[in-house]
Amino acid sequence: MLVGGGGITGLTAALALARTGFRVELFEQAEGFETIGAGLQVSPNALAVLDQLDVAHRVKAVATAPAAIRVMSAWSGRQIVAIPLGRHATERYGRPYLVVHRADLQQVLASACADDPDIHLNMQSRLEDVAAHANGVTALVRQGAGMNEYGGLALVCADGVRSRLRQVHFDAGPPVHSGLTAWRALISSEQIGDSHDMENTLLWLAPNAHAITYPVRGGRYLNVVVIVRGAPDGADDDRSGREMKHALKGWASSFKSLFDYSARWTRWPLYRAPHLTRWADGPVALAGDAAHAMLPFAAQGAAMGIEDAAILADCLRRVIDTGDDAAEAMAQYEKARRERVTRAARLAVINRALYHLPPPLSLARNISMLLLGGNRLLARQDWLYRWTPER
Ligand SMILES: Cc1cc2nc3c(=O)[nH]c(=O)nc-3n(C[C@H](O)[C@H](O)[C@H](O)COP(=O)(O)OP(=O)(O)OC[C@H]3O[C@@H](n4cnc5c(N)ncnc54)[C@H](O)[C@@H]3O)c2cc1C
Repeated sequence: MLVGGGGITGLTAALALARTGFRVELFEQAEGFETIGAGLQVSPNALAVLDQLDVAHRVKAVATAPAAIRVMSAWSGRQIVAIPLGRHATERYGRPYLVVHRADLQQVLASACADDPDIHLNMQSRLEDVAAHANGVTALVRQGAGMNEYGGLALVCADGVRSRLRQVHFDAGPPVHSGLTAWRALISSEQIGDSHDMENTLLWLAPNAHAITYPVRGGRYLNVVVIVRGAPDGADDDRSGREMKHALKGWASSFKSLFDYSARWTRWPLYRAPHLTRWADGPVALAGDAAHAMLPFAAQGAAMGIEDAAILADCLRRVIDTGDDAAEAMAQYEKARRERVTRAARLAVINRALYHLPPPLSLARNISMLLLGGNRLLARQDWLYRWTPER
């Protein structure tokens, strides 16, 4: 089995396929796995897959379980409502809601892959093209100065929002810029001391902008993400930085003081995948951001990629169990995933509108959140977080 891309989706897919009984060749264009980056929320549905793959305990060891999501008014600096997580989420969903440094999660997955004798990790290996034929697929992979061919039963393309295979094999357009930019920084807790809440996730809401903060790396850093309107790739970083700070004019000093600490702020223009009429074509399928990159407003992009991996492996299992052909399995995978992924992406679009509401609508939003209360706000996500892979 061939997997293109060693991000969270590709690595989880490699693990899931190997545990199903396949030998896996994974191709990652980078020299090594990410060691820098920012935070990631890992919801119980994603953790259910990691549990099944026997890596959840390793993820938990490098993650934190925030006690709650405190929704804040970014202007007044006051809490609107607190959505309980911590023990409450574990009791409700059977698993905790975690926050983790993205590189830590990727390292856990990469080392589990490296430990698995059925997975071969090919680094500095760029997937260029694929051809399907009667016996499976042949992938063309650039390795150093040369180009090599690899054969397999099927190919999972998990090469991210800018997926090359999506463009060359599925004839799809480039990713679509959302008009938004995420600014991200990690601030050491030594600098912050006790001047910021390091126990909870804080979601700061304001017109046309929001921010989220939570601890990572065992509370040694505070992960800060600010999402504002912004230009696509190629825009001037300094100018965009000034525009971002201007967009936060009027925010409470309890948030703005975070800019006083020394930290590297990284600009991350937000793209989504173009609409695709199909994710599978014979024995070739797109997964994760390559298939359905969504806005991060529901914190579900990586979670959906992790779920994809479990379902892909489950569908392809039938190739071993019953001799079904791989093309049929890939079609089943797409059918199984479309509705749920579309619903998660729709939630992200709704949250975008809600989070960035201007007054007086923002006031109405705040009052309804307060009236609903944290427990009921969490219960609205049950369809998302209660999901577990069948096997
Ligand atoms: C600001 C922000 C916050 C987010 N927060 C969350 C969150 O809290 N929770 C959550 O679940 N999701 C979140 N997401 C979404 C999440 O980051 C992505 O959905 C997820 O990382 C996608 O993983 P992936 O493996 O599909 O793609 P990627 O992470 O893009 O990985 C693709 C990999 O493929 C490699 N590659 C690319 N092209 C090739 C090629 N041709 N050949 C070989 N290798 C190739 C790349 O080098 C890369 O390693 C967030 C996103 C953003 C921008």
